[in-house]
Amino acid sequence: MRKREREITDLEEIRSILDQCKILHLGLSDDGQPYVVPLNYGYTLENGALTFYVHGAVEGYKYEVIQKNPRISFAMECDAVPFEGKTACQYGMSYRSLMGRGRAELVTDPQEKQTGLSVLMKTQSGKNFTFNDKLVSIVNVLKISVDSYSAKKRPLPQKLTEEGA
Ligand SMILES: Cc1cc2nc3c(=O)[nH]c(=O)nc-3n(C[C@H](O)[C@H](O)[C@H](O)COP(=O)(O)OP(=O)(O)OC[C@H]3O[C@@H](n4cnc5c(N)ncnc54)[C@H](O)[C@@H]3O)c2cc1C
Repeated sequence: MRKREREITDLEEIRSILDQCKILHLGLSDDGQPYVVPLNYGYTLENGALTFYVHGAVEGYKYEVIQKNPRISFAMECDAVPFEGKTACQYGMSYRSLMGRGRAELVTDPQEKQTGLSVLMKTQSGKNFTFNDKLVSIVNVLKISVDSYSAKKRPLPQKLTEEGA
């Protein structure tokens, strides 16, 4: 990361970004043609291993691409707040964000699909939901195992923070 001072390494803050973003932009590559699709996600972060679960209809272009090439990239952002300045260059946006790389696979085991959907609903709603076999049979669940990721924060410029205080 070029601006090292903006990097976030604290796991609790990374968890807070993962809890807050709600939408993941999944980047795929179809024979060299990039394809980015926004999706809601659930995540687990255990012993340093980050895993996402996403769900959707049982058919669609993203599955066709993943079948050919399971390698993915992702990006998500939250707390995006625009700020103004005297000159165009002083305008900007504060944010927290996470980006990374990994592999996506279709979950076929019904038990793991149930787990993935529960994880997804927990991240999205903060609530615990369970799913039966019938419900899991009508959706696809993708598991995304993250190989590497980084988190970044751009705070509001200090002058604006002081003015707002
Ligand atoms: C905030 C947000 C949250 C979402 N959450 C989910 C989710 O959790 N699960 C889920 O399955 N879907 C979700 N969607 C919809 C998702 O972005 C896709 O539209 C959907 O998953 C179908 O993707 P696909 O690759 O199977 O496309 P297909 O339905 O096969 O269609 C392929 C083509 O349709 C067009 N297309 C597909 N998606 C979009 C789009 N979002 N906007 C404009 N054009 C599009 C593109 O041209 C693409 O090449 C969400 C969308 C948004 C904006």
